[in-house]
Amino acid sequence: MATQRKNSGQAFPLKTAALAAVAIVLAQGCARTPQQQAPSEATVAAHVAGATRAARSDLTALLTLCKPAPAARPPQAELDKGLAAFIARPAPPPGQAFDNLYFVGADWVSAWAIKTSDGIILIDALNTQAEAAALIEGGMRKLGLDPAQIKYVIVTHGHGDHYGGAPYLAEKYRARVVMSEADWTMTETKLEFATPIWGAPPKRGAGDISAKDGDRVTLGDTSVTLYLTPGHTMGTISPVFDVTSNGQKHRAMLWGGTGFNFGKDVPRLDSYIGATQRMGAIVQTQRIDVLLSNHSNIDGSQAKLAALRQQPAPATNPFVLGTPTVERALAVMGGCAEAQRDRFLLQ
Ligand SMILES: [Zn+2]
Repeated sequence: MATQRKNSGQAFPLKTAALAAVAIVLAQGCARTPQQQAPSEATVAAHVAGATRAARSDLTALLTLCKPAPAARPPQAELDKGLAAFIARPAPPPGQAFDNLYFVGADWVSAWAIKTSDGIILIDALNTQAEAAALIEGGMRKLGLDPAQIKYVIVTHGHGDHYGGAPYLAEKYRARVVMSEADWTMTETKLEFATPIWGAPPKRGAGDISAKDGDRVTLGDTSVTLYLTPGHTMGTISPVFDVTSNGQKHRAMLWGGTGFNFGKDVPRLDSYIGATQRMGAIVQTQRIDVLLSNHSNIDGSQAKLAALRQQPAPATNPFVLGTPTVERALAVMGGCAEAQRDRFLLQ
């Protein structure tokens, strides 16, 4: 699968960049072209069918994105009720996914700790200060990590289930908060989702960082590259970094924002589609073979961590999917976004 692509009726020996580009388009299934068909029920169905094929049997969790998305955001009361129910679910135990990567999340939203030679880079901070204390600090202690070593808190996007605990951790440990300029601005001006259930967004301090596409956060022996993948929010960050399993190196991407919960917004879906295509190429170039999410229903992290608890040093780490599978995952998400764009264009 590394050098050939099926589905096309013929195999392409990928010796040139041009052919690689062809392969990426094929992997996307239904990438946008200037001759794109006018949206219709048939194009919606074709995008869904393409995404479903790309999902095969192992990535069906992602097909939840292919269900029709609402044209309007939920009313406040409904949002609050749903969030309260999510937050009330009992949290899973913390766990170790890789030699240098730890899960310290809640049931429906995840936080990940990257251990470096000079401290910890935290990705996302859960809904509230209480969760940050119980699940991030508490989870880290259970795993033998010292929360005082948190040096950076990367907030993948400006929704409160990812930033709610960030101000507490930033203040307590003098950790630097990293967010994209677009999402800093969004949280400083008008929150897309404002609810008292979440902790307040972090206040941008002198040491905090406004991440641009391709920026790196480097701590000790570890570098995290921040790719901007706009769509879920216009400043979503998808971090890419190395992980090791039993000493063997892999490259991981954490898709920073997945759902289409922004209502009828075609340009945003176009951004999302573009981001999946662009990252598909980066996945191939960098041989990214691990796909993570900040919601465990997307990456199946809870089941994978449970498997690792049963067998701590398996021959194959369940988080290692292989590069072709990570590419397929992006094709599924992109295909579902195309279906949703066409649905909105028909409304
Ligand atoms: Zn979100």
